[in-house]
Amino acid sequence: MHFTEPVYRNPYWPTFPLLQITQGCTHNKCKFCTMYKDVDFNMQPLEWIEEDLKEISTVAPNAKTIQLLSANPLVLTYDKLAHIFKLIKKYLPKIEIMYTQGRVSDLKNKTVAQLKKLKELGMKEISLGVESGDDWTLTRINKGYNSKDILQQCHKLEEAGIDYWMTFLNGVAGKKHSKEHAINSAKIFNQCKPMLVGTGGLTLFPQTPLLEEAKKGDFDPLSEKDLLIELKTFVEHLICDCKFNTHHTSGINLTGPDFLRRKNDIILALEQQINNGDMETLSKIRKNKRTL
Ligand code: SF4
Repeated sequence: MHFTEPVYRNPYWPTFPLLQITQGCTHNKCKFCTMYKDVDFNMQPLEWIEEDLKEISTVAPNAKTIQLLSANPLVLTYDKLAHIFKLIKKYLPKIEIMYTQGRVSDLKNKTVAQLKKLKELGMKEISLGVESGDDWTLTRINKGYNSKDILQQCHKLEEAGIDYWMTFLNGVAGKKHSKEHAINSAKIFNQCKPMLVGTGGLTLFPQTPLLEEAKKGDFDPLSEKDLLIELKTFVEHLICDCKFNTHHTSGINLTGPDFLRRKNDIILALEQQINNGDMETLSKIRKNKRTL
């Protein structure tokens, strides 16, 4: 198999088989991320993709799902994606779902008709690293799109019938703008129909611009308690009928289906943690984190 480091795979999707179709990230400028800083964006050579598919077909000829890597394969043009998807079907004819991820802006170069065709070929579930629906925050973290883009592109996915995830990056706006980040993100997410809303807490990793800004006093990171308070505000304002998933250091498991039915319980669990949680332990867990 041809894997080009660093490789990110979504741990909530089946992690076998994996097929890398792109390297690096086209944007590579989000202020909290250095994951692909040393890698130029490229499509994997088609020969590699085909060789990998041949190899997968020898060990998992009946695979029904496949996860396509890495940061934002969704940015490839319709023609390139359709070509790769047809190759996947050639070697793995029983594939039903091709999971992939990307940026909101990766959808701009595709029409709804093209998205529908990609769905027919297998692209039935995608994950979008949205991070915020608040325009001030999106600009502040250099995300490269705004809330209007989020709505436009997510509505295209809905029209095409493609299921999608939206992520909220807890803490990324800093302390002064925390409330607006939470409330305005919920407002934008509420106008979309994600099958899942995922949340992760900001960790300031070495060499990220946000960490450098924090050292100079230009970014005011949230404490563990502030992160939980912001997450609670986001949850209180969120009314999406979706699954809810959290992979930060809250110390409590808030992941599960049917967000609206569980919403009050999630809020109560967060309140409990805000009032009685062991923030020192949460902070230690965060210090040991190595990836987002
Ligand atoms: S967060 Fe995602 S879009 Fe932003 S630089 Fe990192 S990989 Fe690229």
